[in-house]
Amino acid sequence: MKIYNTLTKRKEEFVPIEEGKVRMYVCGPTVYNLIHIGNARPMIVFDTVRRYMEHKGLQVNYVSNFTDVDDKIIKKAQEEGVDSSVISARYIEECRRDMQAMNVRPATVHPLATQEIDGMIEMIGVLIQKGHAYVAQDGTVYFRTRSFPQYGKLSHKNLDDLRAGSRSLLVSGEDQKEDGLDFVLWKPKKEGEPYWESPWCQGRPGWHIECSVMSKRYLGEQIDIHAGGEDLIFPHHENEIAQSEAANGKPFAKYWMHNAFLNIDNKKMSKSLGNFFTVRDIAGKYDLQILRFFMLSAHYRSPLNFSDELMETAKNGYERIVTSVGNLKFLEEKAPIGPMTQEERELLKQAEGFEASFDQAMDDDFNTADAISAIFQLVKFANTYGKEGRTRAFLEALRRKITALADICGLIVEKQDEALDPEVSRLIQERAQAKKEKDFARADAIRDELLARGIALKDTREGVKVERVQARRSEDA
Ligand code: AMP
Ligand code: ZN
Repeated sequence: MKIYNTLTKRKEEFVPIEEGKVRMYVCGPTVYNLIHIGNARPMIVFDTVRRYMEHKGLQVNYVSNFTDVDDKIIKKAQEEGVDSSVISARYIEECRRDMQAMNVRPATVHPLATQEIDGMIEMIGVLIQKGHAYVAQDGTVYFRTRSFPQYGKLSHKNLDDLRAGSRSLLVSGEDQKEDGLDFVLWKPKKEGEPYWESPWCQGRPGWHIECSVMSKRYLGEQIDIHAGGEDLIFPHHENEIAQSEAANGKPFAKYWMHNAFLNIDNKKMSKSLGNFFTVRDIAGKYDLQILRFFMLSAHYRSPLNFSDELMETAKNGYERIVTSVGNLKFLEEKAPIGPMTQEERELLKQAEGFEASFDQAMDDDFNTADAISAIFQLVKFANTYGKEGRTRAFLEALRRKITALADICGLIVEKQDEALDPEVSRLIQERAQAKKEKDFARADAIRDELLARGIALKDTREGVKVERVQARRSEDA
């Protein structure tokens, strides 16, 4: 399995620190609002990485934080006149709902920044003691960037260029810094803000320290994978490396993975441009499985453009898989039970080729776009060979192959089936009987009734096929 490592700018063979185990940390959202579809990209991408690694037999310890103390949370709390913990608790709950709807599995642990303050104070203390941090007049603690000569190694930035740039960026209050590149580890409280006691002042942590601390607490000093969106490479991840490696005296993460950004109609998503969508907005229009399918239809390191048109394409693609699985299931119901034929066994062998292509694509830095193409090839194969007259065992094996690959992508393609609803099955059989008896009025009436439930029947040469469609009444059929 190869992973593109931002640190080395190369695809590298993945070798976990401890055989068979993966320690993975993914920077999570700041919880002051419903998550937007940009935030959904790393969630879906790295959940898929996790699923694929598990498919390969690795045991993944997956940690992802919620940043629950931050200027934006405090601002929102002040606007609503509530405590900031009310805001963060509300949006953590909402985020979990969205994750579930996108079939993003909960992390092994979801630590909260506010529950880890002791660990942060401890690590900041170590950094001060080792000369990597200093306390300014007002109690602010800064990381001493020049004490960490490798600073810039992740973002491949030149320290002198960075330093020259940062000088002009100094804002008032930052004149206590020894160097423009120094960053905040701890800052004094302001009126009306949440704060904690510390050896330096009553205050709260800077943003970067939480991830160094939580990653160490839940995964250890050295981890396999650290991940997030590409905007986090600098300064957030660069600062995490400086803090962790300076405090622990060991390399921090072996592989750094970053997803590219999601844009809307080729523009940066922003509230002021009016092209800002929450996951909840999309849920009002599409099944979120389609959003997931859409996200995985591109490689995670390529920018991804969101538009109605592309979502429609994703919808068609996703439904092609769902329909194929639904048809197989329908055929299984009435297929003869008994051993597979020799021909069927050979066909299944052939189908394994698509599974191999799927793995090959995923092994190449999680190329989900090609992996989905492999699923489509399997679907096409299933549509060709999964016909009436096949044994139930064969049809079922084909169906399981499709659902297993989709499941690695976290795509639910087996609908909790109306087609399996005994009432629906009965109606379908009754319609077949009515047609046999040339009672076409009755057959049509049943077809309309099923349409009203969102089930379209198509008479094909291979027999009746079931398709899920939008439920409609017969008069608009
Ligand atoms: P934030 O709450 O802003 O810290 O973002 C949480 C995660 O979402 C981070 O990994 C960000 O890099 C990622 N993210 C934010 N906006 C986008 C976007 N438009 N496209 C892809 N990832 C994003
Ligand atoms: Zn982080």
